[in-house]
Amino acid sequence: MKKEKAVVVFSGGQDSTTCLFWALEKFDEVEAVTFHYNQRHEEEVEVAKAITEKLDVKHRILDMSLLSQLSPNALTHKEIEVEDGEGDSLPSTFVPGRNLLFLSFAGIVARQIGARHIITGVCETDFSGYPDCRDVFIKSLNVTLNLSMDDSFVIHTPLMWLDKAETWQLADELEAFDFVRHHTLTCYNGVIGSGCGECPACKLRNQGLENYLQQREGADV
Ligand SMILES: [Zn+2]
Repeated sequence: MKKEKAVVVFSGGQDSTTCLFWALEKFDEVEAVTFHYNQRHEEEVEVAKAITEKLDVKHRILDMSLLSQLSPNALTHKEIEVEDGEGDSLPSTFVPGRNLLFLSFAGIVARQIGARHIITGVCETDFSGYPDCRDVFIKSLNVTLNLSMDDSFVIHTPLMWLDKAETWQLADELEAFDFVRHHTLTCYNGVIGSGCGECPACKLRNQGLENYLQQREGADV
């Protein structure tokens, strides 16, 4: 059987780490790609590096610092407050074009190493108003990538229709629950594991975890 290779867009957070475990189960060869774009917390790249070392996964870090030059937002500029979008406005953490650029670069990496599969942790259920996390965008980009390189990439989005509790469940099914819980960084304030507990990312993550643990306990009784 042909060896199947995959590229995982990897930030070191809960979602992309769960995707990394998912990919490691599905594909023979997995490479992680992390984009460095002057994130609010440099730790993010360090955490991504540490996780791939622990899991013995080949890791590539690509410099995308031009993204923060192009569009000031709360993830790349410390002076901008992290806020949820109110009404129709997008949250201050929205980085315009991020997934478009990241997935395009992941496609170029995939092409270069002979990988057909690209995995991203985007999710429409909890998409917080980010337009480039929607399924229709991913499907459209998949077509565009294939046309642009005359290739047959498959973009996988294992978390697309899961809520945060179900994402914890998936990690558990992949026997990665404790790993994801303790080694990943989701918090906007740069606190690894359970995080600061206060920022929007922590609230979403911890609420999902609580819900999942309750369900699990209920199932055990
Ligand atoms: Zn936090």
